[in-house]
Amino acid sequence: MLTSRPRGTNDILPGEVGKWQFIEETMAKVCREYNFREIRTPIFEPTELFVRGVGEDTDIVDKEMYTFLDRGERSITLRPEGTAPVVRAYLENKLYAGPQPVKLYYTGPMFRYDRPQAGRYRQFHQLGVEVFGSHHPGIDAEVMAMAMDFYNRLGLKNMELHINSVGCPQCRPQVRERLQSYFRPRLDELCPNCQGRFDRNPLRIVDCKNSRCQEIGQEAPTTLDCLCDECRQHFDQVCHYLQILHVPYQIDNRLVRGLDYYTHTAFEIMALDIGAQSSVGGGGRYNGLIEECGGTSIPGIGYALGIERIILALDKQGIQIKESPGPDVFVALLSPDNKPKAFELIFKLRQAGISADQDYQNRSLKAQMKYAAKIGAGYTFFVGGDELKREAGILREMATGKQEEIPLNDVASRINEKLG
Ligand code: AMP
Repeated sequence: MLTSRPRGTNDILPGEVGKWQFIEETMAKVCREYNFREIRTPIFEPTELFVRGVGEDTDIVDKEMYTFLDRGERSITLRPEGTAPVVRAYLENKLYAGPQPVKLYYTGPMFRYDRPQAGRYRQFHQLGVEVFGSHHPGIDAEVMAMAMDFYNRLGLKNMELHINSVGCPQCRPQVRERLQSYFRPRLDELCPNCQGRFDRNPLRIVDCKNSRCQEIGQEAPTTLDCLCDECRQHFDQVCHYLQILHVPYQIDNRLVRGLDYYTHTAFEIMALDIGAQSSVGGGGRYNGLIEECGGTSIPGIGYALGIERIILALDKQGIQIKESPGPDVFVALLSPDNKPKAFELIFKLRQAGISADQDYQNRSLKAQMKYAAKIGAGYTFFVGGDELKREAGILREMATGKQEEIPLNDVASRINEKLG
């Protein structure tokens, strides 16, 4: 029986992988320029890393996790996001003992048991950055500028940066109180989820996707109305630094991150033309997270963006990414007897940094040429006949059909010259 891939997952085929490589390479380049270093953590982690503070409105509800018992009866979870594993690695490997801040980035698959739809998958890929050890508002601005810089370099247009401040443990009680007084009279009109959130975490009601809750919450007090002096100053400074960097932004006081560890800056980047799942990335400051993961009180900020959504946006905006090209040269045989010579030559070409391939299906010469064109070879080099007696062969440029005889010993250097 033919097995299909699991629901909500995708095969990334060779014809599409050029886009992925372009995105990942652009990210690596941007990260180098902003002095972020790559970190790689396991794809699975102990479940408790993601299930902290149960009873709160936590990730366990939000990020519907792939959790299972392994053969040693340990509860394991496929990572639903990258921040907690990076925090764990930062603490476990004592990266806090080195110079601060520590600026990291990661990329890789994440897993959430969501209901699949366009732009929403069960295995998807994120690129993310985290900065640990600095509370400076300049870092917040830099992280957002870097995200926008990255989208620009991909050629994406119509990207909007929405920012907000969600306050800190000092102003949170005031926010909570004001939100509860606002929602109390209409509590029974809220969705069952939000009725539960009313006591636990009323900030999340503002964030609810239910249209009725959104309507009721329209006039709700915002975190910006309740910021303490320190948070207000921090937010003003973040905006100031964004202005210095000429990064356009919109203040969106409905943008909340309801979990307790989020503090100060929250932001989201939207691609206006990709449809319902318009968020291509989001992040914020989480000065409480490292402590929640068992560390001391160390500030942090980060963001993550979804590669599949970026590809949707690239496609939607008609941005062409060059697909990975075919081999530089295809070595064709005039007769099957020439195979050993061709084998040797191909090996030498590869050693010289030229991508080279040949026929393995015993094709006729004509069929080999067709095949070379189909796989997109830049050149074909013919081995056999009288030329071979002179230890030479014919090199044909596929685009122009131009041909010339070249000694076998010079093929590599001549092709390299032509490829520049
Ligand atoms: P989050 O970790 O929920 O803040 O998501 C960060 C980014 O990851 C989003 O802006 C999306 O681009 C992407 N993302 C989140 N969930 C999914 C999913 N189920 N499928 C595809 N992309 C996702």
